[in-house]
Amino acid sequence: MKQRLLGKTPEELKQIALEAGLPAFAGKQMAQWLYTRRARTLQEMTNLSKAGRETLSQNWEVGMAFPLDVQTSADGTRKYLFPVEGKPSDAVEAVMIPDQDRKTLCVSSQAGCKMGCKFCMTGRQGFHGNLDAADILNQFFAIDEADGLTNAVFMGMGEPLDNWEQVKKVIDILTAPWGLAWSPKRITLSTIGVLPNLKRFLDESRCHLAVSLHNPFPEERLEMMPVQKAWPLEEVIRLIRQYDFTGQRRVSFEYTVFDGWNNTKRHADALLRLLSGLECRVNLIRFHQIPDFPYGAASLPQMEAFRDRLSRGGLTATIRASRGEDIFAACGLLAGKHMQL
Ligand code: SF4
Repeated sequence: MKQRLLGKTPEELKQIALEAGLPAFAGKQMAQWLYTRRARTLQEMTNLSKAGRETLSQNWEVGMAFPLDVQTSADGTRKYLFPVEGKPSDAVEAVMIPDQDRKTLCVSSQAGCKMGCKFCMTGRQGFHGNLDAADILNQFFAIDEADGLTNAVFMGMGEPLDNWEQVKKVIDILTAPWGLAWSPKRITLSTIGVLPNLKRFLDESRCHLAVSLHNPFPEERLEMMPVQKAWPLEEVIRLIRQYDFTGQRRVSFEYTVFDGWNNTKRHADALLRLLSGLECRVNLIRFHQIPDFPYGAASLPQMEAFRDRLSRGGLTATIRASRGEDIFAACGLLAGKHMQL
């Protein structure tokens, strides 16, 4: 099977070029073809010698994989299903969410997930493997809206900080001048708080951070999120407080609202204490019911009451609009084609 050039850095491409008998500067040329000109085949790379392209093509290809399926929601959200290289039984989803002049891509970083959050369909399917940088970048390049994307959120299938090496590589390619030259402000990474790699993310990138919080009480959070045992939320918040979120970089907290589990006055007060003095936003998310789950979604008036309680306490809280629910593209519903809903 041929290896993929997509996802390689100019330095890696230089090595590949040298091994194929091309000059060192062909590495930069290949990066430009891949990331600026979006070439889909080696033959398009016409400033590489014909003989060089032929040698390269014995072992290498660009590596673009087209979607297996595309679904479009009544609200314009589009869900793409992609194959995973070398794993024919696996597939991952990417969701394109249009909103006025923005087009945001919600990207998957793993096939399945090992974190086991009980309210999440991806978590229920278990872990099938990490995506590599080519699999992740392919989600950006192989969709119909590839040229018009304005933002990206690492909020699709998988925990991005459980695959930090590859996610970091993708962020580097998205933000490098030789890559897509995006500002890091266009990218948000969402995590449940994988502490060691959270520190690396905060040190090694300038992208926005979103943390899946869902309950301010450790023992209650643990009921739904096994991660609480390894990396308690309090330690996550302690780490976040060491970084500056008063300027360009933002931190937000995701809070899916379950009727009776996490939307009482007691929870609002604890949340206010936990986040006090931190420049942040709380995004309240409507729960999308999944089978065999003990809690239901809070109603809109309940969510508004919870939001108002937080706002009165001085926290910026918003109710996030739900998108793509009719095609199972909304938060917590991504499952590839493995699960039947
Ligand atoms: Fe994994 Fe995120 Fe689902 Fe938790 S919510 S199981 S971290 S994909």
